Amino acid sequence: MLYRAHLLSPEAPARLKEFADGGLLVDEAGVIAGAGPFEVLRAAHPDAEVTDLRPHWILPGLIDLHSHLPQFECVALDGLELLPWLETHIFPAESRFRDADEASRAARDYFRSQLALGTTTSVVYLTVHQEAADRAFREAERCGIRGVLGKVMMDRHSPESLLEDTGTSLAQSEELCRTWHGRDGGRLAYAFTPRFAPVCSRELMAGLARAAERHGAYIQTHISESVGEIERVRELFPEAADYTAVYAAAGMLGPRTLLGHGIHLSPSERDRIREAGATVVHCPRSNEFIKSGIMPLRRWLSEGLSVGLATDVGGGPKLDMWGEMAAACNASKTRWAQQRLQALRLDGVEGLDDALRGRLARALDLEPDAPVTPVEAFHLATLHGARALGQEARIGSLDPGKEADFVVVDPRRVDPAAARAEAPAGEVLSRLVYRSDPAMVRATYVRGRLCHALD
Ligand SMILES: [Zn+2]
Repeated sequence: MLYRAHLLSPEAPARLKEFADGGLLVDEAGVIAGAGPFEVLRAAHPDAEVTDLRPHWILPGLIDLHSHLPQFECVALDGLELLPWLETHIFPAESRFRDADEASRAARDYFRSQLALGTTTSVVYLTVHQEAADRAFREAERCGIRGVLGKVMMDRHSPESLLEDTGTSLAQSEELCRTWHGRDGGRLAYAFTPRFAPVCSRELMAGLARAAERHGAYIQTHISESVGEIERVRELFPEAADYTAVYAAAGMLGPRTLLGHGIHLSPSERDRIREAGATVVHCPRSNEFIKSGIMPLRRWLSEGLSVGLATDVGGGPKLDMWGEMAAACNASKTRWAQQRLQALRLDGVEGLDDALRGRLARALDLEPDAPVTPVEAFHLATLHGARALGQEARIGSLDPGKEADFVVVDPRRVDPAAARAEAPAGEVLSRLVYRSDPAMVRATYVRGRLCHALD
């Protein structure tokens, strides 16, 4: 099939690639056989069936690196910080997943919602329930979404309804991994999913790290999200120098490890995470919603840390990655403005010598970080997300040889002057990000298969 549309794809962190009258040639196996000017592709493949999508645009499918399927139904309940929020809203919701039919229904709705928003790869935390996890995989297999899923593991300091025995947790997780990791040519994959250190024993973490290594599977967990959580980790793991050291001691840090949040990481922790090749997953709307703080995204990126982007539903209130890209840009703008304001205030304090002023500026972190742009956020949500999963050769852009995960959008839906002549790609992307609307996503394809269509 040869699709005719305006093609827009990431090329580098701050660079786009586009073909205004483009063609995307997808073969029978769902692989991109060609991407370029439409007329060139048509001349080279005169027998290819053409689907004319103009004036719509084709972009690579979005990659959500961290969210919680069972929390979808209790999103947007305001007022609490992380630990009380988990106890009040989240643990009771997750307990309901002991009903496997309920789990199937929730998974079906969840993946459908993601596809309708242009998300083609979903990296997901489930609950502790093995049967519910198996059902979620089955729904992902059926609906066509690309998924990295994992049964949550928690074997201490947890409510009775979710508390697991260490051996059972490891055995059930490994069984799910054996069944699902690599299914359908790698479309589905398994992530060992210890919720976070405060509810996991050392034995559980060490055991799952060994199992993930054996199977070449992923590990996903949370790190350094809130100040209260960091304090809890310090109490529970007095032998560890910091939060990162807890995971490192268990053998959990590697290139297939995804660490949610990482807002308050120290320089030394960032060094160790970078050296391990692990990815920190930025979830700006969740961080704002649960009052966790603003991750210094620009700083982390400029240090060469791998940072992905995700919605973190239910900490984040919405499943759309477009809005999450906007939130990443806006959070970094807020941080930049705060740094400038604080620096001005410090300048106004009389009686400080230069040495003390410098020390204060460093302690308060007042070196301004340039805000992140929509083009950069788009890169995080596509090509870099693929890289974080070790799947850069397979997904993340519209380059030939990759599997055809793409989204068809109508930019006119979010353009107040829809009748204007076509705007430059950077402007169009900016409006898709800052003014996103579900109605702009016309269709979503995963490996060439139509998984969602608006009409
Ligand atoms: Zn999370």
